[in-house]
Amino acid sequence: MKKTLKQLAAWLDEDMSAFGDTVVSGISIDTRTIQQGDLFVPFRGEHANGHRFVVQAFEKGAGAALWQKDEPNPPEDLPLLFVDDPELALQEMARAYRHEHQAKFIGITGSNGKTSTKDILAGTLAPFFKVQKTIGNFNNQLGLPITILQLDEDTDIAVLEMGMSGFGEIEFLTKLAQPHMTVITNIGEAHMQDLGSRAGIAKAKFEIIQGMQPKGLLIYDGDEPLLQELVAQNPQLNALAFGLEPSNPLYAENINANTKGSSFTAHGVIEGDFFISVLGKHQVKNTLVAMLIAHQLGLNNEQIRTSLEHVVLTDMRMQQVNGTNGALFINDAYNAAPTSVKAAIQFIATSTIRPEKWLVLGDMLELGPNEQSFHEGLAAHINEREIDYICLFGPRMSYLYKVLKERFGAERLLYVEDDYTAIIDKLKQANESSIVLLKGSRGMQLETILKAFIA
Ligand code: ATP
Ligand code: MG
Repeated sequence: MKKTLKQLAAWLDEDMSAFGDTVVSGISIDTRTIQQGDLFVPFRGEHANGHRFVVQAFEKGAGAALWQKDEPNPPEDLPLLFVDDPELALQEMARAYRHEHQAKFIGITGSNGKTSTKDILAGTLAPFFKVQKTIGNFNNQLGLPITILQLDEDTDIAVLEMGMSGFGEIEFLTKLAQPHMTVITNIGEAHMQDLGSRAGIAKAKFEIIQGMQPKGLLIYDGDEPLLQELVAQNPQLNALAFGLEPSNPLYAENINANTKGSSFTAHGVIEGDFFISVLGKHQVKNTLVAMLIAHQLGLNNEQIRTSLEHVVLTDMRMQQVNGTNGALFINDAYNAAPTSVKAAIQFIATSTIRPEKWLVLGDMLELGPNEQSFHEGLAAHINEREIDYICLFGPRMSYLYKVLKERFGAERLLYVEDDYTAIIDKLKQANESSIVLLKGSRGMQLETILKAFIA
């Protein structure tokens, strides 16, 4: 974005006289990452008041800043735009900029796989279009407007991640972004606490169609009956399903993993053999989303195939790391919820990359009152003939420990509540024939264990 303060003030219905010609060329809410010319947006948070950092923001190169009208002592002689509420102003500016922007907007939601799908999609399209995507996990009511306001004027495709923890949030985000295409990657169990049931989660994700352009396209996980049902209830909706079931208009089969990634055969809307440098059937499903969108945007199968081969994913999502003990680590420690843990266990259990299989699992957080049964439920997905060693970390993993104790025995099963060192010691036994999955919620920081095995 490149705008004068006068233009921003007009979007916000505010007065701007003295510094009206000042140009801002981006947006920032954090003085640590501010770029030359950014508009700095201060918030009154629980812990800190951003207005205290406004002067510092200018010292670090900010071109201008918002200022909440009832905040006392605004610094003098600086280009400040006075607003009633900086958060609302941020959203209003994003809405206005979105409205005048020519790009095709793509909104991605789902319980798991939003960031992965976003990265695979952006990577696939990058050789053919000017693509910009949500940075990191900026997927909420602040992150989404910031992402939109960071778009260059000549961007062709904006890939936006939309996250939520309750009803109404996706509706808000999608109405702001007005996407041409929307994606629901899957329905899991995360945020059960607030939404009551998986059906509730599906309904909340489905809100994404509410802001979609009139002739927009919804791309959804067709292996999920809850989504099929919702699509059936909306006969006017333009929708396309992907998955592993042959009933889907695009599906994948013959999924094979090696140390470099996954090969698979696509059938339906797109036919042929493909390869992507990520692991796990769930990532192949995310890849199908990218293929469908690329296809919609006019790329042919050969272009899609070549492009996919070059895609690189963000850290800590089924990322392969060679440990100093010789073991191959699959670092999926970015986050964990039942669906993604099951998918990752299934990948390890069925992979043929290394014969000796280890699971290092940390607590899954934010699961609500049924967290005990979610942790215990993982046991049904762990087969003692397929998995050799298990290390469990965190108070909630004690539930799983109790179920697995008999089946695995002390030699093959280790449980610790809050100390990484016992797990690190155990992992010293892993070697060139071992593959080790690291998977737990963000708060568990399982990557700490991996650091012990990086030279
Ligand atoms: P967040 O809500 O934290 O932003 P996200 O939806 O962006 O999560 P990713 O960061 O892409 O999801 O992946 C989170 C975890 O889910 C990773 O462990 C990943 O391997 C797993 N995962 C990715 N895609 C899927 C999928 N389609 N089904 C199940 N699990 C998946
Ligand atoms: Mg994400």
